[in-house]
Amino acid sequence: MLFFYCMENHKKYRAIAIDGVSSSGKSTMAKRLAKTLGYTYIDTGAMYRAVTWFFLEKHVNIEDEQEVSVTLDKINISFRLIEGKNVCFINGQNAEPFIRSMEVSNFVSQVAAISSVRKKMVFLQQEIGKTTHVVMDGRDIGTVVFPDADVKIFVNSPARLRAERRWLEMKETNPDITVDEIENNLNMRDYIDSTREDSPLKQAEDALLIDNTLLNVEEQYKAALDYIHQKL
Ligand code: C5P
Repeated sequence: MLFFYCMENHKKYRAIAIDGVSSSGKSTMAKRLAKTLGYTYIDTGAMYRAVTWFFLEKHVNIEDEQEVSVTLDKINISFRLIEGKNVCFINGQNAEPFIRSMEVSNFVSQVAAISSVRKKMVFLQQEIGKTTHVVMDGRDIGTVVFPDADVKIFVNSPARLRAERRWLEMKETNPDITVDEIENNLNMRDYIDSTREDSPLKQAEDALLIDNTLLNVEEQYKAALDYIHQKL
């Protein structure tokens, strides 16, 4: 008991962990919460996407452990603040223009299931949490990255609805994309993410569940903020 008490007292920085299924509006909510609270927002999905993009560029065979490990050693992921946004960089290059393609989306869950990849990303995420208050979103933040996070929230809603909402956001930049294609991708990722052996996607026991089926962006944000105020 005393040991846990001491551990809590040693924690200098607060962590708000937001997890949930793919395209559930986690990042929109997490970004806004971070801004309101004056915390640093970290999009951990961007980190896994950046590694995936690099693996695709280098034609890495993900079945080959040695090749994966050698390639991982060549990867340096960081975040830089650009115009108020925390942007993911890979080896000094802004990753954002490359990591949102369907090619990356279709491969990222396979890459994210590799333990050596997760180990490196989780280490970086925990290091960031040692020097700043964070709102971090992902799949394993409340369960693995910050199991003692000050606040944990898990976001969910039906895949069809998430795909329709995502399609509305994507249709301008990607006019050929269909709701079905997006839904298939979300279902595939959720399946791989929640059935992998290493840190599967799941709701932490002490997380608040927000099902946003009947909530708009504003209502979801308010529900999360009210909960954070209650907890902190
Ligand atoms: O958040 P986003 O949808 O961009 O994440 C892309 C993928 O990265 C997820 O489908 C999942 O495979 C992986 N991921 C993960 N753990 C995290 C964040 C993302 O495995 N903490």
